[in-house]
Amino acid sequence: MGLEVFSLENKIALITGGGTGIGLGIAKAYVEAGATVVLTGRREEVLKEAVAELGKNAHYRVNDITNKKEIPNLVKNIETNIGPIEILVNNAGIHYKGMAQETADEDFEKILQTNVISVFSLTRECAKYMLKRKKGSIIMIGSMAGLFGIDKVVAYGTSKTALTGLVNALVTEYSTSNVRVNAIAPGWIESNMFLNAINNDPQRKQQITNRIAMDHFGQTSDIGNAAVFLSSEAAKYITGVVLPVDGGATVNF
Ligand code: NDP
Repeated sequence: MGLEVFSLENKIALITGGGTGIGLGIAKAYVEAGATVVLTGRREEVLKEAVAELGKNAHYRVNDITNKKEIPNLVKNIETNIGPIEILVNNAGIHYKGMAQETADEDFEKILQTNVISVFSLTRECAKYMLKRKKGSIIMIGSMAGLFGIDKVVAYGTSKTALTGLVNALVTEYSTSNVRVNAIAPGWIESNMFLNAINNDPQRKQQITNRIAMDHFGQTSDIGNAAVFLSSEAAKYITGVVLPVDGGATVNF
């Protein structure tokens, strides 16, 4: 068997939050592997720039993932105008720093709404089409913060742990229809979200580096490469996994 099992030729991938950071890293890797990508996000100028960089196999749709009513329209629009969505990457997410005693209900709810409830709604909508076609790969972008307790990220950590539960539940429902569901749990990846979370503080960066077994941060392309593998035919018997891509940070913790 040749390397063509890793190809994403003729596959259409919807990547939420695909205009920046990890989402854009995934989009670049997908396009390189032959896929057509559709990126979503709330900022049109960001998406336009990303699509211009990615070339003719990239499209965008402006969409706020928390706007539940818009989800069926978004999916239908892509299915009709671009083609069947075979890969869904639930990447859009927001970070929130705060200890439990300092976190207001409203903030906790906002994190769950974006990082979990929207993911469920979009996944269910895309799966409607995938289950009928008996073909699909769904990837959740979780986090190392969802694998074990990290201080000061109570809401964010809870939201990312919930994605593991969602993967487990969906595998029991979707597997006989050949729709696979997996998650990637990135460690510390250099993106704006990460740099903002540590206020671009060099000292904090060094402290974190010391906790990473490989002694350096990950790049968005590292997540992109893992996503290509998980959504390709090479992974056709892999469903229900949460794959840490973290330079050994989880093991070293
Ligand atoms: P970014 O802030 O660059 O990416 C987040 C993306 O999500 C943006 O493109 C943003 O676009 C989009 N987004 C946020 N809210 C919404 C919304 N309501 N509707 C639509 N799109 C939305 O950060 P990262 O690339 O780092 O994060 C990507 C994912 O990776 C997140 O789920 C994050 O939790 C996860 N992750 C990141 C890690 C890291 O170290 N960087 C580590 C572990 C996990 P816009 O604002 O235009 O809507």
